[in-house]
Amino acid sequence: MKTLTGKCLCGAIEYEIEGGIGPIVNCHCSKCRRWHGAAFRTRSAVKRKNFKWIKGEEHLSKYRSSKHNIKTFCSICGSNLISIPEDKPDFIGLPIGGLEQDPGNRPLMNIFVDYKAPWYEITDELPQYSEWPPVDLTKLEEVG
Ligand SMILES: [Zn+2]
Ligand SMILES: [Zn+2]
Repeated sequence: MKTLTGKCLCGAIEYEIEGGIGPIVNCHCSKCRRWHGAAFRTRSAVKRKNFKWIKGEEHLSKYRSSKHNIKTFCSICGSNLISIPEDKPDFIGLPIGGLEQDPGNRPLMNIFVDYKAPWYEITDELPQYSEWPPVDLTKLEEVG
């Protein structure tokens, strides 16, 4: 199985993923846009047991963005790192931008497009969903 690695901008925090990542989506919700300071967050669901911090976990800051969700970021450089959905304890949300390798799979869809930035036009041919897609993304883990 391929091992993927990633890190924050300053390099204080590094992580490793075994067994690949799940389906990739572009999320246009307002929380993701603000969190990333970008048009959307490109992320994947990764099995929590396959993810581990290999360096600098003591620099990790956490922010509870909603009842069941915690966002993490580097307290030194501010890079956005994993999200921790407490209602899906077997998974974490991984922003793909921090990876150092090509994970192989590609974005499958745009989600929460009803909340996208008015100045950004989606120009790809991927399916678009108003909010969550009609499938549980974590269930697509093996096909992603
Ligand atoms: Zn950092
Ligand atoms: Zn989002």
